[in-house]
Amino acid sequence: MSLSPEQQAEIDALRANPQQTLRTVAPGMEKHLYLAHPVLDHGFVRVIDYMGDDAAICQAARVSYGKGTKSVQNDEGLIRYLMRHWHSTPFEMCEVKLHVKLPVFVARQWIRHRTANVNEYSARYSILDREFYIPAPEHVAAQSRVNNQGRGEVLQGDEAARVLEILKADSARCYDHYEQMISQDGQQGLARELARMNLPANIYTQWYWKVDLHNLFHFLRLRADAHAQYEIRAYADVICGIVADWVPYAWRAFEDYRMNAASLSAQMVDCVRRMLRGEQVTQENSGMSAREWREFQDIVGL
Ligand SMILES: Cc1cc2nc3c(=O)[nH]c(=O)nc-3n(C[C@H](O)[C@H](O)[C@H](O)COP(=O)(O)OP(=O)(O)OC[C@H]3O[C@@H](n4cnc5c(N)ncnc54)[C@H](O)[C@@H]3O)c2cc1C
Repeated sequence: MSLSPEQQAEIDALRANPQQTLRTVAPGMEKHLYLAHPVLDHGFVRVIDYMGDDAAICQAARVSYGKGTKSVQNDEGLIRYLMRHWHSTPFEMCEVKLHVKLPVFVARQWIRHRTANVNEYSARYSILDREFYIPAPEHVAAQSRVNNQGRGEVLQGDEAARVLEILKADSARCYDHYEQMISQDGQQGLARELARMNLPANIYTQWYWKVDLHNLFHFLRLRADAHAQYEIRAYADVICGIVADWVPYAWRAFEDYRMNAASLSAQMVDCVRRMLRGEQVTQENSGMSAREWREFQDIVGL
């Protein structure tokens, strides 16, 4: 992770200067405030600000005047009920603002989540740092044979070394040319907004990303999932840990009713019922395609 000494000093100063407030604070989140959690080789996730806690979800659901807490069991039970029945708006009462440093190709996947507020570092205004994502050897893998949208076996030996060398050399060469083009030493210097087009998608960018808890859960459901690309999953996994500390009841409900839950199609439900009645159900008499049948087998552990 690349934080300059000045950036680290700013973080230390912020953490050394607590403010008194009448607002609700979540103790589990306070310990994360401002700190940079490393992700990949140069990236990080930092919590810049947040609003709300588990009690705020219950307070909104009950539209109560005060803190709204009836009892700890009541609050957790209510949150689990809301999550189970897709009563989502109370979760929108909690918000979090993150500072994220991430490779551009990860940012392209991330930005597809439209229900957040984003402000990205301007490469028209500023000069990008010489920082590129180079995967660790265990993540340099071949195209998957079973999943067109994924990777398979880890590359070995000469091929792995050659791939890593190409990635490093091309990144360095592109950045050298970027610097040469913007340089005003003995020349006018190309505008930054144009020179950046030469940089590869593994260069790091940064943004502030603000989202409510309902939409964050949606993001995490998709991006902390095994089907998501490893690089964005690495960020989602770190955010999962932060959310678990921030709103522990909501997090457990999310794990139980979304993250580790499964949804069954009408045909799947029918098959489960037939199986429970002792019928021999196969893909041929299930009404499902071969692919759906495989997914069903995965869900029910056949
Ligand atoms: C494993 C994986 C593979 C993917 N592969 C591809 C791919 O190959 N190509 C590709 O282009 N994308 C791909 N995506 C991106 C995917 O299609 C979604 O764009 C992305 O996950 C964001 O989801 P979302 O729209 O639900 O989220 P958000 O944009 O956060 O929206 C949340 C919800 O708000 C509602 N919503 C938001 N905006 C609108 C709107 N304008 N109109 C209607 N409803 C709206 C929808 O209900 C939506 O589900 C992939 C995503 C994943 C997780």
